[in-house]
Amino acid sequence: MDERICEQCKNPFFADVNNIICNQCTELLFDKVKLYIEENEEASMKQIIEDTGVAKKHIDQWIREGRLEAKNKAIRDEMEKLRGLQKDLKSILLDENNNQQENTQKQVQKFHLKHHI
Ligand SMILES: [Zn+2]
Repeated sequence: MDERICEQCKNPFFADVNNIICNQCTELLFDKVKLYIEENEEASMKQIIEDTGVAKKHIDQWIREGRLEAKNKAIRDEMEKLRGLQKDLKSILLDENNNQQENTQKQVQKFHLKHHI
């Protein structure tokens, strides 16, 4: 945990390395996206990102946390994709018995890097 300055409201907050905005701002962005996809069920991921100004990594995070509903097609597709990625990751982990542990860890790291999860 480090003290950082929120990119959005410029207030200091404590967070791990990945967070660039504070919890309060994250919640505001979340409400914005949630409202947007409720009103625009046909919007693509690109449109959602452009119209709300919210980075995809946040949207992915909320999808993973199960906070966004699958009413919107783009969100549904993304859910499927993330679910598929989790499955791939699991199969690498299950392979662990057949591999050296070190090797598995490397593979998992590579997987995380490649897919940003
Ligand atoms: Zn903030």
